[in-house]
Amino acid sequence: MDSFQTNDQFRLGTQWAKRVMSMAHSSQDICDVLIAGSGAGGFAAALTARLQGLDVIMVEKEPLFGGTTAYSAGVIWIPGNSHQRLAGIADTREDALTYLTHHVGNRLDRANAEAFLDSAPAMLDLFEREGIVSYTLAPTWADYHPDEPGALQGGRSLVPDDFDGRALGPWFNQLRPPIKTMTAFGGMMVGRNDLPHVFRMTRSLGSALHVGRMLARHARDRVRYSRGTRLVNGNALVARLAVNAFQRGIPLWLNSPIVELVREGGHVVGAFVERERQRLQIRTRRGVVLACGGFPASDDLKRRIYRHIVAGKGHASLPPPGNTGDGLRLAQSVGGTFQDEVHQPAAWAPVSLVPQPDGSVIPFPHFFERGKPSYISVDRRGRRFVNEAKSYHVFVPAMIEACRGDQHAQAWIVADHRAIRRFGLGALGPAPMRVQPFLRSNYIKRSDTVRGLAEACGIDATRLERTIGAFNGPARHGEDPEFQRGSDAYQRFNGAPGHKPNPCVAPLDRPPFYAVRVVPSELGTFAGIRTNANAQVIDSAGRPIPGLYTVGNDAASVMGGTYPGAGITIGPAMTFGFIAGRHLAGASR
Ligand SMILES: Cc1cc2nc3c(=O)[nH]c(=O)nc-3n(C[C@H](O)[C@H](O)[C@H](O)COP(=O)(O)OP(=O)(O)OC[C@H]3O[C@@H](n4cnc5c(N)ncnc54)[C@H](O)[C@@H]3O)c2cc1C
Repeated sequence: MDSFQTNDQFRLGTQWAKRVMSMAHSSQDICDVLIAGSGAGGFAAALTARLQGLDVIMVEKEPLFGGTTAYSAGVIWIPGNSHQRLAGIADTREDALTYLTHHVGNRLDRANAEAFLDSAPAMLDLFEREGIVSYTLAPTWADYHPDEPGALQGGRSLVPDDFDGRALGPWFNQLRPPIKTMTAFGGMMVGRNDLPHVFRMTRSLGSALHVGRMLARHARDRVRYSRGTRLVNGNALVARLAVNAFQRGIPLWLNSPIVELVREGGHVVGAFVERERQRLQIRTRRGVVLACGGFPASDDLKRRIYRHIVAGKGHASLPPPGNTGDGLRLAQSVGGTFQDEVHQPAAWAPVSLVPQPDGSVIPFPHFFERGKPSYISVDRRGRRFVNEAKSYHVFVPAMIEACRGDQHAQAWIVADHRAIRRFGLGALGPAPMRVQPFLRSNYIKRSDTVRGLAEACGIDATRLERTIGAFNGPARHGEDPEFQRGSDAYQRFNGAPGHKPNPCVAPLDRPPFYAVRVVPSELGTFAGIRTNANAQVIDSAGRPIPGLYTVGNDAASVMGGTYPGAGITIGPAMTFGFIAGRHLAGASR
């Protein structure tokens, strides 16, 4: 894709804005659909509506577009997708529904779950056919509870393909960059598909060449760009969606929050948007889609809804600052209802806090290393409290429970020298990355003895010695009698490939020892606005509010607050965006 068209679109967006500003004080309809929010949900709804021939305007509150989606790994969970069929992986809608029914239990909204399962493969096929997304199957990435009925040992999760950020032209600088601590050398992205090469680069020529090529491209980029233009993960997903939106003539206005809905005769007929200190009325022929990314940046809502915060414990949110629950507030202002009867109000993940030169800290999510050989996690009493190879959404509630009577909810991920040189420890990547700067900043602690490490962290030293001693004996034979680490396909997927006999278990016996402190965080919120199977907002009687849709994390999670597999927020966000776009095309007022 060339950047000429995106340059043109930049001008088009400005022309549109001028036209709308001149019309905004009249009662003329300005477009068919107004979309608030530029993450996966917003773009999917916008592009689907546009493919159906509708005029769409997207507005984004922040100066950068992409939302949490741009921070994410961009993985989507799509049961019954066509990539599976090509790879010979059997999967059915019925199996997936069995899994969700079993796992989500009485919190499952069956109609919405069925709508998701029915439309998700069609969404992916259409978007791939149109070049709007590009995904590769992760055939061994198992569902997170792979032994439950209907679960699959791999193939429902797909990873976004790389994208060349230069195709964004002038928009590249407005794409929300990834979380700083998750990049290397001033903005080089490292994707899920790069990680095995990073872990093997000192032992495999092929991997060393792969990493060498990444570095060379990054060095060239840094001559002309503020960061690397080889985009992976959620940045690649958003950039591809955005280029497609721009090329199809969808204007995206930054710094333009939607602030109020306009309702007439029971229909939502538009909204007020603030832009350049003006309040513009954007009237729509079909409706408004709220895709504002839930409430992870609303201290007020989190204080009311996250139980560990209610109990006075700390929390460090990952999503960007604009996700303050605007979509929830707006939907409720016209009769929408808030669904907080979910298993968990958010998608949890443990984070460590990486000190920055200016004295601030940036959270780093711990997705992978916890479950690899020669790592364990302990509370301040020096006790293990969870099977560390289970998902991040399982880890955090277990950590909070282990700290129930304590002032803080916190834990330490502990590893030995060989392990951290091979797999890293949080923001400290594997060798040859230097350990010293992370020790100097106090991000990680190190000691030649387990006792010394415990004392440096404030952990009960006698108990930690006992815990590691008890772990190491059976670990030499690949066993973990306390938590059975490595006992299912998802845990083994997170382990060290080829490590025998158990890819998740080895003793911690190569000093020095290291630890990093982790605290609760979230990837996004699960509690949200009640919707029906068309992504329409429904009132307390279950009746749709005509003209109003919510998708992504503004809508209550179709997973009922559980985390069945990788990609269970962005997969549904894009699917319900697709459903909303199609429903809008058939809607009239
Ligand atoms: C590190 C990390 C990794 C993750 N990896 C994955 C993954 O691989 N797969 C997965 O499924 N999930 C993942 N998640 C979670 C996932 O990123 C989010 O659940 C998802 O991106 C939410 O999409 P969304 O479209 O609802 O919102 P967002 O992508 O957050 O977009 C919402 C946008 O709306 C804007 N907005 C807010 N208020 C207004 C307003 N009033 N007017 C206009 N705009 C407004 C915001 O500024 C924001 O840009 C990850 C999260 C993190 C932090």
